[in-house]
Amino acid sequence: MTTLDGTAVHGHFIDGHERASADGRTFEVRNPANGELVARVAEGGAAEIGLAIDAASAAFDAGCWSRVPVRERHRILNRLADRLEAALPELATLESTCVGRPLREMRAQLGRLPEFYRYFAAVARTAEDAVTPFEGAYLNYVRRVPLGVVGQLTPWNHPLLILTKKLAPALAAGNCVVVKPSELTPLTTLALAALARDAGLPDGVFNVVTGFGAEAGAALCTDRRLRKLDLTGGTETGRVVAKLAGENLIRVTCELGGKAPVIVLPGADLDRAAAGATFAAFIASGQTCVAGTRVLVHESQAAALVERMVRRARAIRLGDPLDLATQLGPLVSAAQLERTERYVEIGRAAGATVACGGRRPGGALGSGFFYEPTIFAGVQPSMRIAQDEIFGPVTCVLTYRDDDEAVRIANDIPFGLAASIWTGDAARGMKLAERLECGVIWINDHHRIDPALPWGGMKDSGMGREAGLDGYREYTTTKSVIVNLDEPVDWYATDDIVRLS
Ligand code: NAD
Repeated sequence: MTTLDGTAVHGHFIDGHERASADGRTFEVRNPANGELVARVAEGGAAEIGLAIDAASAAFDAGCWSRVPVRERHRILNRLADRLEAALPELATLESTCVGRPLREMRAQLGRLPEFYRYFAAVARTAEDAVTPFEGAYLNYVRRVPLGVVGQLTPWNHPLLILTKKLAPALAAGNCVVVKPSELTPLTTLALAALARDAGLPDGVFNVVTGFGAEAGAALCTDRRLRKLDLTGGTETGRVVAKLAGENLIRVTCELGGKAPVIVLPGADLDRAAAGATFAAFIASGQTCVAGTRVLVHESQAAALVERMVRRARAIRLGDPLDLATQLGPLVSAAQLERTERYVEIGRAAGATVACGGRRPGGALGSGFFYEPTIFAGVQPSMRIAQDEIFGPVTCVLTYRDDDEAVRIANDIPFGLAASIWTGDAARGMKLAERLECGVIWINDHHRIDPALPWGGMKDSGMGREAGLDGYREYTTTKSVIVNLDEPVDWYATDDIVRLS
């Protein structure tokens, strides 16, 4: 059981062992619900990243993971899934304490994670190599092989979910991994590394270096031994990281920011749409990349929808994340709270109407980074609150006159990660989905995930795909073997020249 009373000091996890930073530096992890110290964690830099990549390279070269029979990888990943399942109550409490998300949300989210390890173990176990239709008497078989040492940079908003979406396919494919988790929430990643070791993952296959993006993260992006870098983070971080990795031709997958439209079509059940729109916006206090924070509703139904959404938002219970009755926790940090407050002021100044929320709650919640669920009505598509990712519990309601205008507003933004469509007419919803520029679209739902779902965005929301078969393939490369089934050609033989002429 990880102690959460501020007394514990956690090291990096390198080559199967916990270790301190060479210079002994540590940083604090605090509880966003009350500001209390949870633990201290080793602060790593280039030296620790170097050691972790040494360990991962040695493990990869030794073939203790990459070259073991795939049924062995399958067995260990399934055992990891079982151990993870057994540890879920503890991990959910730990994650809730560090991120501030209500325990009820954390339990629901983390409850899905063992499936990812089982799914990708099965994908690797059942993967079949190809034989191409090669011209002539040749056999060309195409093997899918692991990349080697891969780096993963993960954010604070869903620490274990996002790690799992990257780690499960990376390990299943036979890679060795170095993870740099967010400095705000490194504890569950460290806990998972220990679980993986106990499940039988060989030392060096999964390493964790804790520290800050500008130092440890940057060192990971620039190590030439890395074969792939997989980031989930902000769009600006994506630009920096892709540039650093690009210098060394390290392939990059980036899952970045978003500003999902929630499109309510005429004829949709407004109660269901309001329930969906509030769920889309306020889960995780709006701190998700797919947060549905642009509600597009036909002008004839806007007032009725806003009224229903406001009623639901006002009923959301704010409180201690560890209390199972709590539905909305604090934001993760003072910086996120200030950002949210700043954007609400920007919205007000631009002339949008605060239909509910728009302030910090008082009383007992004053010592945490809480903010009330906030709905802006009368929002114009060009306003900053309708264009920028706020990453707080703030949603905007915009109106449209016909489907063409709804599509135009939905697409007229740099992001292109996700959207949801609410309709009683699935065919109309599917037609509209074809016209949206984003990678994930739900019809009559939002936030739903699955290990088999290829996840990722278009435009400034990123490149590449995470999870699903696409995500698995992105952790492999191909090796073509061409076998001549006939007599080898003697190209320079004299009689050959005669024959060719
Ligand atoms: P962030 O970009 O600040 O950090 C993400 C990770 O990158 C962290 O581990 C951080 O330490 C590291 N990092 C930061 N700067 C770096 C640098 N210069 N060099 C190397 N590493 C660096 O993101 P965050 O605040 O932790 O997370 C929130 C962001 O993540 C939001 O923009 C959100 O939309 C996005 N996100 C996207 C998805 C998705 O699937 N597309 C999912 C969750 C979150």
